Amino acid sequence: MQLIDAGTPATLAASVRARFHEVFGEEPTTVGRAPGRVNLIGEHTDYNAGLCLPVALPHATYAAVRLREDGVIRLRSAQADDTWEGTLADVGPGHPRGWPAYVAGVLWALADVGYAVPGVDVVIDSTVPVGAGLSSSAAIECSVAAAVVAALGGSLTDEVRELLVPACMRAEIEVAGAPTGGMDQAVSLFAQEGRALLLDFQDGSRTQVSLPLHEAGLAFLVVDTRVSHALVDGGYASRRADCERAVAQLGISSLRDATLADLDRLDDDRVRRRVRHVVTEIERVEEVVAAAAHGSWQRVGDLFVASHASMRDDYEISCEELDLVVETALAHGALGARMTGGGFGGSAIVLAPVDRREEIGDAIVAAFAAASYGEPGLLSPDPSAGVSLE
Ligand code: ADP
Ligand code: MG
Repeated sequence: MQLIDAGTPATLAASVRARFHEVFGEEPTTVGRAPGRVNLIGEHTDYNAGLCLPVALPHATYAAVRLREDGVIRLRSAQADDTWEGTLADVGPGHPRGWPAYVAGVLWALADVGYAVPGVDVVIDSTVPVGAGLSSSAAIECSVAAAVVAALGGSLTDEVRELLVPACMRAEIEVAGAPTGGMDQAVSLFAQEGRALLLDFQDGSRTQVSLPLHEAGLAFLVVDTRVSHALVDGGYASRRADCERAVAQLGISSLRDATLADLDRLDDDRVRRRVRHVVTEIERVEEVVAAAAHGSWQRVGDLFVASHASMRDDYEISCEELDLVVETALAHGALGARMTGGGFGGSAIVLAPVDRREEIGDAIVAAFAAASYGEPGLLSPDPSAGVSLE
């Protein structure tokens, strides 16, 4: 089993510094590191005032930054062929397009909350798989935000991180034009090593949840299916619309206030199934937190499996590749497995005994080959720390 390496922060920071020097002929002043994430449970709950439970990956994005006095912005990424040059005047809703939106958008949003960004050179490098549902987008945003704030003389206090969550969200929602509920940015900025972050989208609270997996002889395996089913592009919007329709019909302010008893009051079978997913998924997040606190890891695994079934059958956001990962993992000794992220492709997460991890990974690779799917990417992430300066 070949795992995608997270790399070590010191090595990756040195490498992005060297690349910056190569490209711009000077040393960067600061390097920000921000991780991707995998959501343990709680899918499509953010826009329903619900709960989710992400962990930060050791895989992270590194942004090397040097301020300029002339207002010019120059952006490079080791993961992109094209480069971007402009000024803040070129940045706004819908522009620039493509990956520079995520970087320039952060500068634009920071300027809007009072950070005077005079101009900047940026070089990005990352070990987060891009477009895999592991939030390379929040990782690039938060790494840039951290590096720029530090270059301006600030430090990453809790108050500053608090401010960076909405700034990074605005880069993604308004400038890149991609919907995001804020889970990705919150965990990239606030995660702590060895812990998951329980996010409550009703009261805005964040709670650190201890995850002593190693002590229990367990590990996560994350499988990037490397597929994205673009045919169902409207899938996210239509799920949200179904939830809004249910909220209106039930006369409540969000599905957080719905119960299973309310299902009978919904006239459409599809909407009823969507609501059943959201209501039961929020309950499952609470149950996973409780089970983890008691070290009831098989219960956590069972809740993963129930969550996957709910997304496959009621929310209809799984796909054959994700279902195959889950089936194969369970057949080879996993405690549980589920698709993670928005769906229609992307990644799945497996909870496995450490000594079965290799067998499970190999079995998934073999099952993909047998089904003539492309080779999946495998990660085995330990819950890691959020943003830092390197
Ligand atoms: P995910 O966040 O799950 O990886 P998204 O579609 O939200 O998927 O974000 C992926 C996009 O973010 C990429 O298409 C690209 O525009 C941008 N991106 C992320 N990481 C990088 C990087 N290292 N270099 C350039 N662009 C990046
Ligand atoms: Mg993303």
